[in-house]
Amino acid sequence: MSVRVRIAPSPTGYLHVGTARTALFNYLFARHNDGTFILRSDDTDQARSTDEFKQDILDHMRWLGLEWDEGIEVGGPHGSYRQSDRYDRYREVAMQLVESGDAYFSFVTSEQLDDFKKKAREAGTSPAYDGSLEPARSEVPRAMLDNGGPVIRFKVPRPGTTRFTDMVRGEVEFDHAQVDDFVIMRSDNTPTYHLASTVDDVDYGITHVIRGEDILSSTPKHILLAKAMGAEPAEYAHLSLLMGPDGKKLSKRHGDTAMSAYRDAGHLPEALVNYLGLLGWSPGEDETVVDLATMIARFDGTGISKNPAIFDATKLEWMNGVYIREMDAAEFAETSRPWVEADLGRSLTDDERSTLEALMPLIQERTKLLSEVPDQARFLFEAPTEYDDKAWSKVMATDEGPVALDGAVEALNGVDDWSTEAIDAALRGMLEEHELSARKGFQPIRVALTGTTVSPPLFESIEVLGRDETLSRIAVARARLA
Ligand code: GLU
Repeated sequence: MSVRVRIAPSPTGYLHVGTARTALFNYLFARHNDGTFILRSDDTDQARSTDEFKQDILDHMRWLGLEWDEGIEVGGPHGSYRQSDRYDRYREVAMQLVESGDAYFSFVTSEQLDDFKKKAREAGTSPAYDGSLEPARSEVPRAMLDNGGPVIRFKVPRPGTTRFTDMVRGEVEFDHAQVDDFVIMRSDNTPTYHLASTVDDVDYGITHVIRGEDILSSTPKHILLAKAMGAEPAEYAHLSLLMGPDGKKLSKRHGDTAMSAYRDAGHLPEALVNYLGLLGWSPGEDETVVDLATMIARFDGTGISKNPAIFDATKLEWMNGVYIREMDAAEFAETSRPWVEADLGRSLTDDERSTLEALMPLIQERTKLLSEVPDQARFLFEAPTEYDDKAWSKVMATDEGPVALDGAVEALNGVDDWSTEAIDAALRGMLEEHELSARKGFQPIRVALTGTTVSPPLFESIEVLGRDETLSRIAVARARLA
């Protein structure tokens, strides 16, 4: 039997990092087994679902590289993969379940139910609703039918137990005394999550349901429903939820939870996939940097931890730096270019692209996020139009400032072969000649070239910038100083 898994986000929010991690686990399991990865949209909450959220989810799934084989936008043998298009199907199943005696029209009011649960708790018996308050059909008050009609409830077999083997949690057991006769159709004829989700899983032939632990208590309902539909229930894996570094459920308090925030901050999708993949799953050995192909090769559904996984944005940034350093210069230049161009407000010419590539090895070492590149690369394409105030007063408008700039011009004019080594030797000679420390002698040059005291390594930067541009920027700063 071929593996079929799905991710079923509700378009009621942006793609959450926790959903992305669940999607990744499904994706890895599908790819490992040469199976099918399906994306469907659980959009039954019409009031809170928006197209913007739907689009955000699809965009970021694709950005992460989690391409789906069937589902929204790509299609497949099961129609639209959007729950809001399948209401007729859910009604059909609900009516079949009523006919087979597995479900019933329920007239109990919410007040009656509250009262029932309260009494059960007081008496120390099970508070799960068992259908015992339903009036005989002939006694159903007219007003109740007029008020939008009854809901449909699933008739949970009592006494009874639902057992299953969870791929993460092992043997799991739910006594039906704890499971309500749950609503499958609301009085307005819309399906509940339990019905829509199970009908989809059955109709789409889902073999493994890999999802968050928050839904574990619903799983006996889904198993009962699937069986009543005459289907073999799927295998289940309930993943522990993501926690913040303080051990509490991951939320906005811990920083951003929307995938878009990480993309906008300059994270690489490969680094995110690596980081998310190892949140609660061990690839077998004690490794932290594992590429997608390796994850796919090893993700056989074992090694998933029951313990909560900590999402730590600082570690994620570190991992991003690892991926940045692993890129070759051309790749890093191409990946960074959109950031640099957005910063400059224009496209780079072919020559400028080569210049950027030449600088890349210098800044890769110190970069964790793509968003840091423009600040380091800007000086290559734009002479400073102003100077950082503090840098100017502390470094340039000093006794040593003019000495260093004049000395640099003289030293650089004497460099024949414009290489990092020759520039290095000439400028160090200048320090000696004028008895300047490296800080006092080099910082003014840095400020003249970049406008600030922070830049990639100086000699290499001078080489990449070129002789004319370097001397011209020093002259501009020197003139301002005079
Ligand atoms: N729509 C549900 C969610 O976003 C999916 C739950 C499931 O995988 O069954 O949490």
